[in-house]
Amino acid sequence: MYLAELIEVGSAEEVFNPPHHPYTEALLSSIPTLDFGERRERIPLRGSMPSLSEPPSGCRFHTRCHRTLGDICVEQEPPLQEAATGQPTNATSRRGSCSRPRRRTEAATPTGG
Ligand code: SF4
Repeated sequence: MYLAELIEVGSAEEVFNPPHHPYTEALLSSIPTLDFGERRERIPLRGSMPSLSEPPSGCRFHTRCHRTLGDICVEQEPPLQEAATGQPTNATSRRGSCSRPRRRTEAATPTGG
């Protein structure tokens, strides 16, 4: 959830491997590890948490997103959709709310923002 809105739905294994939503991706990057040999890129969230009483337009995460697409993120609220294909889906499959389609190969490669 982000600002009281579901952004990604699925089993723990589905959501973590790999995360679909940039917010989930940033949260997972902040988990400390005791494996000093593991290289993990930390994805910092920019800005501050918006007000829940006056949430941002479009995608609620657009003010802090490291993968923002620009106007589409500011103007259009992304619906929950099938995470891998971006197609409408049923209630039991893995879902995410991001306008940016993701593939496994894109995991942990922030585009800046
Ligand atoms: S819709 Fe845009 S701003 Fe929202 S999470 Fe996806 S890329 Fe980021």
